[in-house]
Amino acid sequence: DADLSTVDPEVAEAVAAELTRQRSTLEMIASENFAPAGVLQAQGSVLTNKYAEGYPGRRYYGGCEHVDVVENLAIERAKSLFGAEHANVQPHSGAQANAAAMVSMLEPGDTILGLDLAHGGHLTHGMRLNFSGRLYNVVAYHVDAETGLIDMAEVDRLATEHRPKLIIAGWSAYPRQLDFAEFRRIADSVGAKLMVDMAHFAGLVAAGLHPNPVPFADIVTTTTHKTLGGPRGGIVLCGKEHAKKLNSAVFPGQQGGPLEHVIAAKAVALKIAASEEFRDRQQRVLQGAKLLAQRLSEPDCATAGVRVLTGGTDVHLVLVDLVKSELDGKQAEDRLHSIGITVNRNAVPFDPRPPMVTSGLRIGTPALATRGFGADDFTEVADIIARALLPEFDEATRDELGSRVSLLADKHPLYV
Ligand code: PLP
Repeated sequence: DADLSTVDPEVAEAVAAELTRQRSTLEMIASENFAPAGVLQAQGSVLTNKYAEGYPGRRYYGGCEHVDVVENLAIERAKSLFGAEHANVQPHSGAQANAAAMVSMLEPGDTILGLDLAHGGHLTHGMRLNFSGRLYNVVAYHVDAETGLIDMAEVDRLATEHRPKLIIAGWSAYPRQLDFAEFRRIADSVGAKLMVDMAHFAGLVAAGLHPNPVPFADIVTTTTHKTLGGPRGGIVLCGKEHAKKLNSAVFPGQQGGPLEHVIAAKAVALKIAASEEFRDRQQRVLQGAKLLAQRLSEPDCATAGVRVLTGGTDVHLVLVDLVKSELDGKQAEDRLHSIGITVNRNAVPFDPRPPMVTSGLRIGTPALATRGFGADDFTEVADIIARALLPEFDEATRDELGSRVSLLADKHPLYV
């Protein structure tokens, strides 16, 4: 069989160009990572050819003996890594994991209480155009305008007032740990179920560097490609009593045939996530984010109106508030792009600018930690970012910072 470059040179060329981009720039999008070679190999395997509707041992297709092995490995590893009684590893993505979790817990028209998208929540936590906003009656909680922290008093008040069936704790852009015990207490006080979406911080949980939501929540969802560092996909965890409803909500509720090649890659990623090497990596993730928050809090940044939301971070990302800076989120993102650092602009809570522009940045350290960055490298990156956001930035600064980025990229080769 001909290889990709012969069959389809255009796609091959774009893939090669993407590899070059990943190698030569610094990836700091908080939700991205570099899947290790073993994960890529499993994901690119012949398992992509197999139909396996159903679950291990109970399939609607023949010839599933090997994919059953793979899916059972993924299930057992997910359960053991997070201490869960039941795991469903079939969701194609985080959004589908959330859709299945909600279908298993709710009826259309039920009330859900989730973090506002504009304050760091995810689309699937009740955004108007998303299935969650269309199927359910959405009430949103917020962060406090002064502290930037989730206002648990508001969560309590809204829960009492609206009596939701499901409370969702979890975020896409928030730099602190959640108080799972308090969410549980509030849920119990109104007879609500608690769902935790740990998509962003699952890798930190796996490494024991972040509280584990599993003991507190009725259901926990995650992606496998963010801090967890695996293939793109989703997983749902829950107690035994909820397993049947969940499995049926994933298949046939949401999906047909599972992506067994991706499930194989999830199994590999979950094995790696239980290793000492992975824990060391997550420690560097946290250290890098702290160093970045510190640098962006120094007087030169403060004078330029660059602010670190909540004054720091406990996780893998830093939220930068540019409301008082001369740059908006789009300009800041473009400026970092021009020196070879990839981040995403991000609305800050109470953002005066529209979502396509925004007044903030979300900057994450997982991908660089995977690349091998340590404290010295993160200190250098933090200084490069700080300098790029100052008003003095000109052509000469761009060249200087761009060279420093290239040195770091060369120091930590990717996919060698
Ligand atoms: N949940 C959270 C908290 C997320 O941040 C994301 C993705 O950004 C998702 C779910 C959805 O994951 P996916 O993009 O795989 O659908």
